Amino acid sequence: MQSFFPSEDGNEEGRMRFLQLIEQLLKGVDSLKNPDGVNLHGDKDRTGSFYNDLIRKSEIPTDSMPQELVNDQLLKLLHNHPYHTKYFLTNILPMASIPGILGMITAFLVNGNNLWDVYGPAGAEAEVRVISMMSKLVGYDAARSGGYTTWGGQGAVFTGLRLAIAKFAPDAPRSGVPGNFYAFCSESAHYSLFKSMEATGLGSNHLIKVQTTPDSAMDVKDLRKKLEQVIARGGIPIYIVATTGTTDAMGIDDIKEIRAVSEEIAQTYGLQRPHLHADSALGGFFAFFREYDFAANPLGFQPNLVDGLQHIQRKMNHLPLADSLCFDFQKLGQTPYLTSLFLVKNAMDLRLVDLEEEETPYVGHRGYGDYHTGYTLECSRMASSIAIYSALLAFGVKGYQQLLGQLVEVNLAFREALRAEIPEAQIVNGDNPGVVTLFRIYPEGADGFQAELAGRVSLASIERTNRFNERLFEVLGEQRDRMFFGDTKKHLVVSTADGGSTTLYAAKIFVISPYTEIGHVPEIVQYLKENIVKVYEAHSEPLETIGR
Ligand SMILES: *Cc1c(COP(=O)(O)O)cnc(C)c1O
Repeated sequence: MQSFFPSEDGNEEGRMRFLQLIEQLLKGVDSLKNPDGVNLHGDKDRTGSFYNDLIRKSEIPTDSMPQELVNDQLLKLLHNHPYHTKYFLTNILPMASIPGILGMITAFLVNGNNLWDVYGPAGAEAEVRVISMMSKLVGYDAARSGGYTTWGGQGAVFTGLRLAIAKFAPDAPRSGVPGNFYAFCSESAHYSLFKSMEATGLGSNHLIKVQTTPDSAMDVKDLRKKLEQVIARGGIPIYIVATTGTTDAMGIDDIKEIRAVSEEIAQTYGLQRPHLHADSALGGFFAFFREYDFAANPLGFQPNLVDGLQHIQRKMNHLPLADSLCFDFQKLGQTPYLTSLFLVKNAMDLRLVDLEEEETPYVGHRGYGDYHTGYTLECSRMASSIAIYSALLAFGVKGYQQLLGQLVEVNLAFREALRAEIPEAQIVNGDNPGVVTLFRIYPEGADGFQAELAGRVSLASIERTNRFNERLFEVLGEQRDRMFFGDTKKHLVVSTADGGSTTLYAAKIFVISPYTEIGHVPEIVQYLKENIVKVYEAHSEPLETIGR
């Protein structure tokens, strides 16, 4: 049985055997790689009765199996798997970098439990280090701030809500959540808050959606109105999520204004200021440009890239005004799933949701051990901070600036090429530079994006255009092993000419692979053009109804 485990004494034979097994996996995946498409090689048809067949056939083998043969089975899992080649342009689904992977392996080698430093001192140390590093990066006071790694950007939004509840009702962790609490986010926010409202028992009816401006940012005038409406009905606003980098369009809410409005209203009505969480899961990484000298421009960025980055940076400068925020390192931080970092400006806030000594008989509250994360919703925790630590050391501020700079630069090149080559494809998030471009095509006779924004288009016509775009999604989706694009069925809520409202569908180019370079843009846009032409040609046939 011992041969299943890393050695106890560090002998060379054990190490060599371990290395060989790892090499088998690396060689195996390398032999599947295909830089001319998206998916790894290998035959695997995951359609039809694929999953039902798995259920029928799967059983634990009676005898043990040599790891070499297990590795063969593991590699088969990867057959036809999407891989982050230059043609991988679908969504915020990045490659894990080598520093990130090595950090994870380091954590696995000792398998400490990050719950308590007596069990997982390496994780505790890395966690304290990366919280301090990222606090200083965004402009928090690292001596006062706190945080921990958690289950996703969604976990961070959820913890923000737990803190908000506990701030407004310190007894809520024991006696339950008062029924008149309300939370706020924009229409373009991630659905994390919706889920959190359900999970805390507040209910998603207590989530108030604030309108957005055409650049997908929260309309602060509408926020003010809705805060006042809730208060007038006897409700108490406890939590505002400001999305700083929406997942689709990279809209950035104005944290400074949101905070000012919420402070002013709280004062007017004699209430506490709502907890402000910046959902910076995706966009927070642009804080790496906080201290970039755009005038001297040491990395030699092109003028349009400098403009784009400065535009983002001006909005991100207000991040430290938030009470808590988040970095999804598995997004732009280049580490594997799951490496989300929740940061709170005032670490004392975590006390509000911590456990009492008698509730944790096994861990913490001893004469030994100084770091016990009794305030997390998880009990056992992986030390994913070690992967974050590794990536931060390896890339450094400059490395992240270079990488993010490249992604934004390639995205700007896509926009330019789309405008020149495919004027039918109207860019619908043009106000937001970043790593993503959303575009929408219009059947002949349909009014364009500006008319839709202005509320001049009927619901029927917008739905017809949505169906037209859905056709493009289908055409591109079928060939996603060649080039893999994204799409969204909820870009901006617009008013219709007939007095209602609806959402716009749009196709998406998400620049996320380090292997997508400016030189690849013409080929990719040409491919898009051919497929868009197909959709226009098929347009003579009637469009099917949505949700068929
Ligand atoms: C991705 C994302 C989330 C959800 O993060 P997970 O890590 O998938 O849980 C929440 N908010 C924003 C803005 C995001 O981009």
